[in-house]
Amino acid sequence: MSENRKPRSGKESDLLSRVRAAARQEQFLEVVSAEEAKARFERHLDLRPLPAEMVDLAAARTRVLTRDVVAAVDAPPFDRSIVDGFAVRAVDTVGASNGNPKMLTLNAEVIVCGHMPIVPIAMGTCTAIATGGVIPRGADAVVMIEQTELVEEGAPRIELSRAATPGQFVSYAGSDIARGETLLRRGTRIGAREIGMLAACGLDRIEVVRRPIVAVLSTGDELVEPGKPLKPAGVYDSNGAIVAAAIAEAGGEPLMLGSFPDDAAVLENAVREALAASDIVVLSGGTSKGAGDLSHRVVSQLGKPGILVHGVALKPGKPLCLGVIGHKPIVVLPGFPTSAIFAFHAFVAPVIRARAGLSPEAAETITARVPVRVASELGRREFVLVSLVQGEGGPVAFPTGKGSGAVTSFSQADGFFEIDALASALEADSHARVTLINGAAHVPDLVIMGSHDVALDVVVGGLADRGFSARTIAVGSLGGVAAASRGECDIAPVHLIDPASGQYNKYLATSGLSLVPGWRRMQGLLFRLGDTRFVGRSAQEALKIVLADVSALMVNRNAGAGTRVLIDKLLDGARPPGYSNQPKSHNAVAAAIVQGRADWGVAIESVAKLYGLGFLPASPEDYDFLVVEDRRERPAVQAFLAVLRDEQIRARVRALGMEPSDD
Ligand code: AMP
Ligand code: MG
Repeated sequence: MSENRKPRSGKESDLLSRVRAAARQEQFLEVVSAEEAKARFERHLDLRPLPAEMVDLAAARTRVLTRDVVAAVDAPPFDRSIVDGFAVRAVDTVGASNGNPKMLTLNAEVIVCGHMPIVPIAMGTCTAIATGGVIPRGADAVVMIEQTELVEEGAPRIELSRAATPGQFVSYAGSDIARGETLLRRGTRIGAREIGMLAACGLDRIEVVRRPIVAVLSTGDELVEPGKPLKPAGVYDSNGAIVAAAIAEAGGEPLMLGSFPDDAAVLENAVREALAASDIVVLSGGTSKGAGDLSHRVVSQLGKPGILVHGVALKPGKPLCLGVIGHKPIVVLPGFPTSAIFAFHAFVAPVIRARAGLSPEAAETITARVPVRVASELGRREFVLVSLVQGEGGPVAFPTGKGSGAVTSFSQADGFFEIDALASALEADSHARVTLINGAAHVPDLVIMGSHDVALDVVVGGLADRGFSARTIAVGSLGGVAAASRGECDIAPVHLIDPASGQYNKYLATSGLSLVPGWRRMQGLLFRLGDTRFVGRSAQEALKIVLADVSALMVNRNAGAGTRVLIDKLLDGARPPGYSNQPKSHNAVAAAIVQGRADWGVAIESVAKLYGLGFLPASPEDYDFLVVEDRRERPAVQAFLAVLRDEQIRARVRALGMEPSDD
């Protein structure tokens, strides 16, 4: 009678074996520490710079010099004038002044660039000379044309009203670059300035380190090449692009091979070709779940020594796989974009830099306060990406909190800090050592923390046009209020209804915070066009229908969101199916409805339009700005307030479906 005794159908056992395979994968990982992983990898690597090659100067930018460059010529190659004027003997000008000008006879020559002078400067004579002209024999100084008067009667002469010192306005041969001088050191990465110096020495070709060719392969049935339309359940291959760009930044030459389906035979072929065509192979994806550990299996069949590490005690980055085939490193990065790029910077970039002849990158760090508690898994070293803002007592680091699947968490972060493998959390208000990601942290002129809105981007754009940079950190309305009261931001956009008065935002303007009106936006029900439970009805009617319909699945919002407060008010205690599905943005609500994971939800009208969904207006809400009073007089805050009142900006806000408020 029990189901266990029934013989299984082929379909069922196939399903079960697939589920088992999927569940088993994490156990394949033999997790080692980051240090151990690096040591094992490096034991098999040749980290010397690759051999040299000659390149044209025009192609030398970003390349690395193999040897010191010694100047073979002087620059300038001769003594030359640095002004327009007259070449003179300084001794002939002694005592010249306005009241007592000296007369000098003009030689019958005008010295211009590119021509050797012919007439020497004899006592009491001078020769007209252009900037860059060769100083003639006998001359030791140049006087500026402005300090002379041409006398045209009789033999041509000049009247000189100022004495010249020897060497005046003369640039001597070799004073810029001296023959025999070491101009550039080996290991230097060539930029525009270096190219200028090499050209000034007359070099048209230069010896540089050959760039390591690094093959890039993405894996996953879901991947779609950027530029092509997204298919259902598809995601764009972003790892390929970011890894290729990071390879170039690390001094390598990316060889982008595209994305490959989760098919062992296809992938093995591609990786073999990649190994033949490159110095280093980097794959991403297929290291843990989903593909049944595909990349790892493929790499393990390619040759010796093979896989050295599979699993590193790092977060993000755990399912990393490091191997060497012959002498070529092969790395499988985790599929999640943030994990992939972290693992790349930790394990692959240093190898590329070394092979490219570059020295290891020196990480720049600062100390910052972390205002919130950050939980961490015991036994894994965890990296936490942060946005930096300037607090009262120094820099403050906010975890960006988007998780390892996010592409933007790495791109938009200012840096990251580490939580030791032996710690289970970093307590609130601890200080952390933050490694900066893009060199020096750029401190923005204005920090905006709170609820995000599409029209806010218009205002920030208006600020940028006025020369002010702003950082917006989306932490939700409540998060914004907290940040503003702690003085961690200048402005907090909020839309919170006061349950007592039913009024928006006004109750938040407590001591130290004032409220500046923003705009009114319409919140309402989102649904797929054609859904007869909604079409042609009011929000209240539609709500009544879906609450009585058990097949109607809603999508809610996260606690702390202003929209959530509204949803709970509309539901008035009801808990329809889907209530516990609580994504964190208007966009996620719209996507869930478009893709059929839910039938209805609450979001703003502009988002409904953006996703081609139907919209029933339910409640207008005020999206306003809390301004930290202490900071109101700052130029960037003043500019923000001015932009809010700017008629052109208000028109653009209106075009997005918002109604700008009056003071
Ligand atoms: P995997 O490591 O293949 O199991 O992939 C883990 C996650 O990363 C999945 O959500 C993938 O869709 C995502 N992912 C894998 N490769 C890429 C890629 N090249 N670009 C963007 N996301 C990816
Ligand atoms: Mg995959």
